[in-house]
Amino acid sequence: MVNMINSKLPDIGTTIFTIMSQLAVEHKALNLSQGFPDFDGPQYLKERVCHYIQQGRNQYAPMSGVLELRQQIAAKTKLCYGREVDENLEVTVTSGATEALFAAIHALVQKGDEVVVFDPAYDSYNPAIRLAGGVPVHLELSYEFAIDFEQLRQAINKRTKLIIINSPHNPTGSVLNFEQMQRLENIVLEHGLYLISDEVYEHIIFDNEPHQSVNRFEALAERSFIISSFGKTFHTTGWKIGYCIAPKQLTEEFRKVHQYLTFCSTTPIQLGLADVLAQSPEHWQSLPEFYQQKRDYFRKALSNTSLKLLPCSGTYFQCVDYSKLSSKPDFEFAQWATEHLGIATIPISVFYQSKKQQSLVRLCFAKDETTLDAAAKCFNL
Ligand code: PMP
Ligand code: GLN
Repeated sequence: MVNMINSKLPDIGTTIFTIMSQLAVEHKALNLSQGFPDFDGPQYLKERVCHYIQQGRNQYAPMSGVLELRQQIAAKTKLCYGREVDENLEVTVTSGATEALFAAIHALVQKGDEVVVFDPAYDSYNPAIRLAGGVPVHLELSYEFAIDFEQLRQAINKRTKLIIINSPHNPTGSVLNFEQMQRLENIVLEHGLYLISDEVYEHIIFDNEPHQSVNRFEALAERSFIISSFGKTFHTTGWKIGYCIAPKQLTEEFRKVHQYLTFCSTTPIQLGLADVLAQSPEHWQSLPEFYQQKRDYFRKALSNTSLKLLPCSGTYFQCVDYSKLSSKPDFEFAQWATEHLGIATIPISVFYQSKKQQSLVRLCFAKDETTLDAAAKCFNL
């Protein structure tokens, strides 16, 4: 009998994404829970990755990432946000945004440092902060899932080190606007804090709103790790390639963690991504329209149901209020809907430290129209 080990994360179980995807398989339900497209990435990208595998580009990439890809990330940053970043000193390719988030948190957070996160918060932030010895401070987003800046100011004290933001926001689909970013910048500068900006949905933003990347706010960017993921941008979530942009000093610390976390990420995929980015910006430039069309299609299909649709300004997630359909708590509802309605969703309470119950679940609309039609039918009782 092995002695029980003293868990570092005693309260953490299997993620909701794994639970709901497994339940979907078990009950042969439509899986609109875990966020991934049911369509493939661009043909040219797949060809280039196959090409590099066949060419034998199958050994370790440089620790900071393949140079051609870092150059393309710098060029894209300039094109999108008008900001010059140094591909050698300020850009690091990572194994997905998950690794970048973990490395950034571990580069910065020391024992007892407080880190502000906003609930509902993506599930990887809290455990990464705690494993680094930090103390997560969960603040709840207010009405319409916006930051309550008064509450934020009150939460800051001499132990506060870092704030983590995510816009466009998973799971709510809300986005930070220019004025909110300015207020955030003021607070970060005034208190000498740092920022991690999780921008994995930077190209999935609707209604002609520009994405207010931290790259547009130079003084804020000087104190930030800006993180994105090609999994979202190229419909290839299984490839796990992301990146982190940070000023030289922060990047140096970031790379100290990254080099012992993974050392480097898959070589042929990095080379393929560099080629497709160099070829044309068309793919990612068309994403807002591509996903907005899906959002609108899905919302129209759901309008015949008793679900109440929350606003969705970005990401590929639609939150719905199911209270006219059921009085169950959201996790129970999600389990029940998988089994009895044939559709898997994500309950929103899991993203709250307080486990706040609001009768809300999240549906992923990165799906073909036939899947979206079938999903709406599941709720058409
Ligand atoms: N942050 C957010 C907000 C996400 O939604 C995701 C994945 N869905 C990630 C980070 C992780 O991205 P990756 O799959 O590239 O690790
Ligand atoms: N980020 C994805 C989502 O929000 C899931 C990632 C994962 O499975 N860990 O659905």
